[in-house]
Formats: sequence, C-alpha cells, structure tokens
Amino acid sequence: MSLQVVGEQRRRAFGSDSAAGVRPAVTLSLIVPVKDEEQAIRPFLARTVPILDALPGVPSWEIVFIDDGSTDATLPQLIIASRGDARIKILSLSRNFGKEAALSAGLDHAAGQAVIPIDVDMQDPPEAIADMVARWQQGFEVVYGVRNDRCSDSRAKRLTSALFYKLHNMISDDPIPEHAGDFRLLDRSVVEVIRQLPERNRFMKGIFAWSGFRQSSVEYARDPRTVGETKFSYLKLVRLAIDGITASSTVPLRIWSYIGGAIALLAFLYAAFIVADTMLFGPSVNGYPSIIVAIMFFGGIQLISLGVLGEYVGRILIETKQRPLYVLRTSIGMEG
Ligand code: UDP
Ligand code: MG
Repeated sequence: MSLQVVGEQRRRAFGSDSAAGVRPAVTLSLIVPVKDEEQAIRPFLARTVPILDALPGVPSWEIVFIDDGSTDATLPQLIIASRGDARIKILSLSRNFGKEAALSAGLDHAAGQAVIPIDVDMQDPPEAIADMVARWQQGFEVVYGVRNDRCSDSRAKRLTSALFYKLHNMISDDPIPEHAGDFRLLDRSVVEVIRQLPERNRFMKGIFAWSGFRQSSVEYARDPRTVGETKFSYLKLVRLAIDGITASSTVPLRIWSYIGGAIALLAFLYAAFIVADTMLFGPSVNGYPSIIVAIMFFGGIQLISLGVLGEYVGRILIETKQRPLYVLRTSIGMEG
C-alpha cells in the first residue's frame, strides 16, 4: 500500500476538526433520531443489529441514537440498550429541536466512514442498508433510498408530497429526487461538507441534493409504522415544505415583480380604455362593484406578497442570531 493511500485512509478515518476526529473511526454509523419512541427501540435493535453484524466489508459499526427531547421512557430504554452493547451510543438533546436538528447532531458526532440516517419506526427497512453499503463500496459517495411504493402512506399524504416535490423542483436550483427520504448513505467526505454549512435552516433533503458527489440509489418499500404514531402533523409538514422551498429558492420573492408588472400593464390598458370611453360617451357614474372587487383583489395580493417577504425576513433573523442548531444535555458512549 502506498503512503499516499495510507494518508488518504487516515484522513478519511479521522477527519480533520470533526468531533468524530477524537474518536476511533468505525466503518459505518447509523444515526437514529428518536422522539417519544419507547416501544420502538427494542424491535428496531432486534432487527437491525443482526443485519449490521452480517454486512460484508464492515468490520465495525455504531448506532448513534439522538434523543430529541423525549418525554417518555425513551432515554432509559436507550441507556439499557447501550449498557448491553458498547456500539450503541446516545446523544440526548436538552429539549425537542426537531428531526432535522437531531440529524445534524448525529452527523456531528458520528465516527463512521459512512453514515446512514434511519428512522426508528422501521418505515425505512434496515435490510436496504446492505444494498447501500454495497453501492458505497463500489465508489458512490451518496446512496439514497427511493421508496418504490408508498402504500403505507395515506392518499392525501402521497398527493401532497408529490405536489411538494413538483413545486420544489420547478422553482429550486437544486432539484431533490422524488420519493427519497432522509434514509440514505453518506460518505465521510459528504458528511464533512454538510457539517461545514453555516446555515440554521436544516432542510436535509435540500442540503443533501445541493452537496453533489457521485450519487446512486437503491429502491425499497416504505413499510407502515410498526409501533407508536407519526410525529409529523399536517401543520408540521406544511412548515417543513415552506422551509424546504425558502431554503433553496428565491422565486417566491421575485415572482411578485412579475405579477405586479402584469397587473400594472392591465391597469394601464384599462385606464386607456376608460379615458377613451369618457371622451366618446361622457362620464358614467356606475362602476362601484368593480372598484370594490379591484380593491379587495389588490389588497389580497399585497398581503400575500408581504407574507412571503415576512417568511424570508424571519429566516434572515434566525440566521443572523447564529444560535447553535441543538443543545446537548448528555452523551453516552461517545468517549471511544
Ligand atoms: N423525530 C424526531 N424529532 C421530532 C419528530 C420526529 O427525532 O421532533 C423522529 C422520530 O422519532 C422517528 C423519525 O424522526 O424516528 C421519523 O418520524 P415519524 O415516523 O414520526 O415521521 P413520518 O415517518 O411519519 O414522516
Ligand atoms: Mg415514520
């Protein structure tokens, strides 16, 4: 083995300034955000650990759980699991920061040369990990999972999510692959790029898409949740969608100049028509309904555009505060 190759491997294994750099590297890290999932942890481990143990070419692995401000027995459950197996590690956040922040905490602390975010509810089947790792070993740096059937999701959810992807990809500079969730393999080089992004808005799908690298995909069926229930209400999904669009596109801001221009042009033509009409046939006093309709229409348009401005200004405020993405309360098993 040449020196250069050894150097390259060391760099990959130990990173530069990463938190993972102070810990001995492992080949593969799973990062698992958990919020009130006391019933899901045991079945998850029972199914996942044998799969990881059997992975060819993966001599060492770890599972990093991120307890995202759970209020049930999730943390005690995790502690029991980590006592029984040193490869199970825990980061506990000081409160609920949301899945995207929990994933950031996981990326910051995972020591793997490859990192896979995965849901604990087994909607992302752990069996797909073997395919992802195989692709990674072929040289791909990002291997995303594509849901080939979403019959586990309700019709309404499938429809709205399809709409979201269409809209997002129409107006965004970094299209995100449809039906790809957060379940994907990331090489250490990609993880380091993502960790260096300064922004607070962590719409992970958009960030993954932006980062580039050699990408490949594997298909999997998204199973129904086994225990517990979804932590994402429709309202939360709408917020996530707005986050996603405002994070990667300024079209919603710019579109108002075009709409304003088009309306001004129409108004100008109509004004010309009224002038001609008055000169030819004299002034007419009716027109009250059309005035009211016009006032309400333009009032509405102005409020919408103000609201869009507000969305972006609010995001600028959050970015300028430069607060950390998450606050760690404790970490267990991260020492080495
Ligand atoms: N999750 C989290 N913080 C939150 C909400 C969810 O860490 O604020 C975790 C949750 O425990 C699960 C994963 O994110 O492991 C996906 O959540 P869920 O299954 O509720 O989402 P869905 O599959 O319905 O999109
Ligand atoms: Mg789920």
